[in-house]
Amino acid sequence: MERILIVDDVDLNRKILKYLFKSIYNNVIIDEAENGIIALQMMKNENYDLTFLDIHMPKMNGDEVVKKFREFENKNSKDRSNIIALSGSLEENNDYDKNFLHMVTDYMIKPITKDKILKAVKMCGYSKSVRFE
Ligand SMILES: [Mg+2]
Repeated sequence: MERILIVDDVDLNRKILKYLFKSIYNNVIIDEAENGIIALQMMKNENYDLTFLDIHMPKMNGDEVVKKFREFENKNSKDRSNIIALSGSLEENNDYDKNFLHMVTDYMIKPITKDKILKAVKMCGYSKSVRFE
């Protein structure tokens, strides 16, 4: 795992996730995006090993970003990249149908913790590269 993207409209949420992630994987390059439109462009331009994607954002929601990005991957015969959806609550997650959940690798309910990050990373098949403090 070399490069990841953190997408969240709340600056503090990005900072927390970045801090927690860096405390586990200190050599990974972390890019950030504050809305779905910027995120989608970055995802098309860069092959991220993993993207943490907030669901509720202004301008373009996370679910729309995922749909558009999966279309882009299909059109360009690219493998499905790892996307972890971030949702604010279990209730929020109920707003989304199973089709959406099938489009992402996994999802995390905020607040984000180290354990949740480790579980999500494991879902992406990166468990062997885990480095403990
Ligand atoms: Mg949000």
